[in-house]
Amino acid sequence: LFISFEGVDGAGKTTQVERLAEFWRARGREVVVTREPGGTELGTRIRQLLLHGAEPIAPRTEALLFAADRAQHVAQVVRPALDRGAIVITDRYLDSSLAYQSGGRELTADDVRALSLWATGGLLPARTYLLDIDPAVSLGRLEHEQDRMESAGAAFARRTRAAFLTLAEREPERFLVLDAREPIGRIAEVICQDSANLVG
Ligand code: C5P
Ligand code: MG
Repeated sequence: LFISFEGVDGAGKTTQVERLAEFWRARGREVVVTREPGGTELGTRIRQLLLHGAEPIAPRTEALLFAADRAQHVAQVVRPALDRGAIVITDRYLDSSLAYQSGGRELTADDVRALSLWATGGLLPARTYLLDIDPAVSLGRLEHEQDRMESAGAAFARRTRAAFLTLAEREPERFLVLDAREPIGRIAEVICQDSANLVG
């Protein structure tokens, strides 16, 4: 079972990923928790370049670097884990590229989608939990210093949020949209129950 979490920075993805992982571990399942960018050793270096590099990065270069990270992530972590029957939960996946590199950086959505599907060999999550929140609220929650992407500005963040919602509308059978202002425990309950229904 392959599950992804999406949403703007500070929406609470990492917390919910951990809650869901605990839920399935308590039920005796192998769970692999991972993330993008940076789910592999190579990916960690790509993440470093993307978020903390000093050089300017052109939008197409940025899209290719995220795609390279994703290709390695799928090949090295996600596919092998799925093949042995694990539940894989990833903090961000290809919808982040559609929201940030297409919605945010304004590359063509079809190009970014094609690039991502090529990178992953077409692997899509069975379920995507979109934690939706006004980025003006969520960015205020972040405790660390803002990285390159997080400091891209309010208009960029609003476009990203809108792009995520549009993606969810287009694929209602894959996405579940949650109001990220709700209490953590309440959101976790809904997600755990939904994933249990998926497993059947
Ligand atoms: O979620 P996390 O903070 O680990 O993501 C790293 C940063 O990369 C975020 O600030 C996010 O805005 C950005 N990002 C991006 N495009 C992606 C994935 C993440 O711009 N495809
Ligand atoms: Mg972040």
